[in-house]
Amino acid sequence: YMTWNEVPAAPLDPILGVNQKFQADTSAEKVNVSIGAYRTDEGKPMVLSCVKKAEALLLEQSDLNKEYLPQRGDATYVQLCQKMLFGEKSKLLASGVVATAQTLSGTGALRLGAEFMKKFAKGKTVYISNPTWGTHNSIMTQAGVPFSHYRYWNAAGRDLDLAGMLEDIEAAPEGSVIMLHAAAHNPTGVDPTAEQWGEIMTVCKAKKHVCWFDSAYQGFATGDLDIDATAMRAFADEGLPLFVSQSFAKNFGLYGERVGTFSITCDTPEAVKAVMSQLDIIIRNLYSNPPKHGANIVKTVLSDPALYQEWRDELKAMSLRIQDMRTALYDELTSLGTPGSWTHITSQIGMFSFTGLSPEQCTQMVEKHHVYMLNNGRVSMAGVTSKNVKYIAKAIDDVVR
Ligand code: PLP
Repeated sequence: YMTWNEVPAAPLDPILGVNQKFQADTSAEKVNVSIGAYRTDEGKPMVLSCVKKAEALLLEQSDLNKEYLPQRGDATYVQLCQKMLFGEKSKLLASGVVATAQTLSGTGALRLGAEFMKKFAKGKTVYISNPTWGTHNSIMTQAGVPFSHYRYWNAAGRDLDLAGMLEDIEAAPEGSVIMLHAAAHNPTGVDPTAEQWGEIMTVCKAKKHVCWFDSAYQGFATGDLDIDATAMRAFADEGLPLFVSQSFAKNFGLYGERVGTFSITCDTPEAVKAVMSQLDIIIRNLYSNPPKHGANIVKTVLSDPALYQEWRDELKAMSLRIQDMRTALYDELTSLGTPGSWTHITSQIGMFSFTGLSPEQCTQMVEKHHVYMLNNGRVSMAGVTSKNVKYIAKAIDDVVR
């Protein structure tokens, strides 16, 4: 009979592996800035108050049951998510040409999109920014979808390599799929400006590319849901074909509840029907149907004006705390006289700072100072607090000298 003795141990996931090492570290000084999850200024995970209130309301609803959802998920939830992405006044939504399914958070949305591509966009390659959230690449590998990269990061200026990005998108074969981070690029924290987005759109349009907006941080970049959706909505208004993956992990703090959506813009409502029927089949054979609890929370908050306002306020507060920590870290480094320029820490946006530390310096941060960060230089600013910021700055100061 078969045994599994020959199965090689898989390497640790680059991000989750750092977290495992952090857990095993017994140092009292250890700091975890590796995971993209919000922490309070006490370094604790946070459940939003609007979420707790929504859960209390859900408990009171006597008609709530635990029956299966349809493969495509909860119809009301999906409609509310579409509005949040495309806006109340969206022409696409008014003409019923957006196909959207509820998914297992953003990762599930990306995988569903990859499975759809495998069936219906055979031979097309997905172009992904370099660098990116590593799972973008591995999802495509696991799903068997060809992928390649476009230039994004200009290491010298610690900003966007717009010329390289445009050149690579231009060089991609017509009708390719271009993965774009909707807001708060992970890991660089560098987003194109409105003008740069315009240039990216022009090239994508000329090359008839499908643009795949990965929206994992709507509201986290600026603290405002609508501002963070501006680029994606501009592409939608311009009539470019879109895929959109949406996650409520960060902006609702619903990480483990697995709440998200995947959308495809179509030409006609008939095409939407057909596409939805195909998404149903893919979902049926992957996990049958999505979980209800997290979607019920989001549905409750988005459809209750008071809770919706409370959520927007909480979202703003989270993004402000992160911005404060950027300033605090910058100030500490400046007062230490740490060699180099650190203005990128405050100019970058969203959850992460791409510090520019070399892999060797990152290793020292972990091994010598117990500051757990990614080897590519990414620090989760959400893990920085008023208590650990001095310590982190001193560690950076030590490794760059
Ligand atoms: N996309 C990006 C760019 C991310 O950074 C993340 C999470 O870190 C995700 C998607 C998906 O996360 P989740 O599956 O938890 O929604």
